[in-house]
Amino acid sequence: MKIQYDPNEKQPQSRLLKKTLKGLLNVSLVAVITATLFTALPATGIGFKSPLFQPVQTNGENLGSETPVATLHVGLVVGHWGHDVGAICPDSLGGYREVDINYTIADLTRQYLQAEGVEVDLLKEFDEHLKGYDGDALISIHADTCEYIPELGTGFKIAEAVDNKRPEQAARLMACMKNRYGNATGLRYDHRITPDMTSYHAFSEVDPNTPAVIIETGYMNQDRELLTKNPSLVARGITAGIMCYLNREEISTE
Ligand SMILES: [Zn+2]
Repeated sequence: MKIQYDPNEKQPQSRLLKKTLKGLLNVSLVAVITATLFTALPATGIGFKSPLFQPVQTNGENLGSETPVATLHVGLVVGHWGHDVGAICPDSLGGYREVDINYTIADLTRQYLQAEGVEVDLLKEFDEHLKGYDGDALISIHADTCEYIPELGTGFKIAEAVDNKRPEQAARLMACMKNRYGNATGLRYDHRITPDMTSYHAFSEVDPNTPAVIIETGYMNQDRELLTKNPSLVARGITAGIMCYLNREEISTE
């Protein structure tokens, strides 16, 4: 049987002790202190997490002593933000700058994640907070070149930090992102991962326990309609990938 906090139960006992030991001041004092300590202990909440104790917390009377619910924390790097503009489309193709596309997508993703109760840090490309960044996940958001590439100039790419101390989590984040982003946007997965993705600078900066990936959300040339006209769909896809990871959702293997 677990110990439950009931202040009324302890009081008669300590009164009785005081009566019995009347005159033995020192002993009585010890008894009072002991009784006080014993009565006070459960109020701190230490060690009283039995299922029997928990219903008390749900009626709103004991909110102050609850153990805080762990808040999920995700970092989103806005590719190139605070550094350069990234890829650029010629004026004939709208003059889009990669950094603006990345920012719009990342900021929408931030809003969608926050709506799911996730705390989000929006980070610059070389943000000082990247050093030792400790979160449940870090996702860097970029977009691919606006050059016209016949046939293969469409699709998204994802690379993970290979030196992660939690390779299973990193692999699952990667799998979730691939699956959910592909499903949401309908873009094909582009396997041509470049060294500047695998050796992405932030991978060696964040805490090695933080699973990290970089995503190229699409090509600014052939996927331009999606990236610039429908950034909310892109952000929904990224959000779904992150939530899949955080919620440990199943990924159907097709
Ligand atoms: Zn980029």
